[in-house]
Amino acid sequence: MTTAWIEPDSTATALLLLGRASDADSERGVDCPGALPAPSDPDLVERARRARALLGDRAFILGHHYQRDEVIAFADVTGDSFKLAQQAAARPDAEFIVFCGVHFMAESADILTGDNQKVILPDLAAGCSMADMATFSQVEAAWDVLREAGVAQDTIPVTYMNSSAAIKSFTGARGGAVCTSSNAKRALEWAFEQKQKVLFLPDQHLGRNTAVREMGLTLDDCVLFNPHKPNGGLTVEQLRSAKMILWKGHCSVHGRFTLDSVNDVRSRVADVRVLVHPECRYEVVEAADLVGSTEFIIKTIDAAPAGSKWAIGTELNLVRRLALRHPDKEIVFLDKAVCFCSTMNRIDLPHLVWALESLVAGETVNQITVDPQTTANAKLALDRMLELP
Ligand code: SF4
Repeated sequence: MTTAWIEPDSTATALLLLGRASDADSERGVDCPGALPAPSDPDLVERARRARALLGDRAFILGHHYQRDEVIAFADVTGDSFKLAQQAAARPDAEFIVFCGVHFMAESADILTGDNQKVILPDLAAGCSMADMATFSQVEAAWDVLREAGVAQDTIPVTYMNSSAAIKSFTGARGGAVCTSSNAKRALEWAFEQKQKVLFLPDQHLGRNTAVREMGLTLDDCVLFNPHKPNGGLTVEQLRSAKMILWKGHCSVHGRFTLDSVNDVRSRVADVRVLVHPECRYEVVEAADLVGSTEFIIKTIDAAPAGSKWAIGTELNLVRRLALRHPDKEIVFLDKAVCFCSTMNRIDLPHLVWALESLVAGETVNQITVDPQTTANAKLALDRMLELP
């Protein structure tokens, strides 16, 4: 039996318009500085092939699972953000790491690669709205609030991989660690061995889902720190009694799935199993059958029996690719409407061609660099994650 993939309805917000000019506090909002090939150029694929071949082993192209098919076709390796950072570190001979993903991922690659290597992000406007929700100055101000409440010395920061290098550096400098969606439980267990409280950045949902669903904490043990409110919108008493201080950040893609999406798909597709990413809201994750990282989602679908039915709650490019790869299984998108990551989609074939051809011409474009002090502290936080039992 083969099942045809049904594209969800498009929405006005499927591809959000991004700002122009640069913003030091933002992951996004800058123009591409070069002359891009026209998207209609019929030779784009051939130009990408030619530039790729000319660069040979000098370049290594990484493709995140949420990237467009036209870009994934040129990736030497695909993966989630952590796997790609590891892959970048495992290629010390590659002069250029071309990162088809978003800004914080390219920063992590720069932190983990040698000084002689250059990390290239084909479109500098490919940021991450979640990472943008925790800026360095906001997190420093929050730490002052914790200090004034007398709880900073009892608190350890843990930051999700999906955060800027500056936030990873903040975390490393205060004894904390980075985590991914695969090892968040282990990272939190480690953190609670160090201190009584955790400041979890920047994704409230991953923090709450892990603490409550996997570690036995209650919803009352968690408080939400809103950086846009005085003192995070919390009283001193709330800060003192909390175990998990969750930053008020979320993924704008996974945050779109609701309990209604789950109930609706169950009513539409008999015997469907709902598989979601832990960046989804607590009530969505509670209502799902399985929860796990992007890599977990891929492995689960790869191993699922023919004829099984799945509703997947993660980025649409990946869900569509999984559906096309497994026509013997019925795979639907969890929501009825389109849910692309608009910033991931910034990297398209014209930007990739432009970046590769520029490198062939001897011009290094869109290089992502993290300064030495930030690198040193961020690496402390990344290394603590890598040393987790
Ligand atoms: S899917 Fe969410 S977390 Fe990932 S890059 Fe897009 S906005 Fe950021």
